[in-house]
Amino acid sequence: MRCPKCGVNNDKVIDSRGISDDSGVRRRRECLNCSYRFTTVEEIVPEELHVVKRSGEREEYDRSKVRNGIVSACFKRPISAETIERIVDGITHRSTASSKTSGTSFPKSKV
Ligand SMILES: [Zn+2]
Repeated sequence: MRCPKCGVNNDKVIDSRGISDDSGVRRRRECLNCSYRFTTVEEIVPEELHVVKRSGEREEYDRSKVRNGIVSACFKRPISAETIERIVDGITHRSTASSKTSGTSFPKSKV
């Protein structure tokens, strides 16, 4: 970590403490060059949303592909475009919420 005061990248961690909800770690650092103390916060970056296909292949989540899948599943059924948009929104929302695990698949039978 580069020191904000002297710009030298040479520090040691003197204290690390979890953030209240355990979503990250706060580290107290001291620059070994100028002794300036500063704090850094380390947090988890959520992985990009992926869709796991039945074949086990992973691909980046693509909202339009999900919608196309629903549109073809709803073909010849009395479902409006608006309803489809709502379903896609729901899937996007649920996927984001569960993306902490390895991935999400969308079985077509559920649609
Ligand atoms: Zn420094």
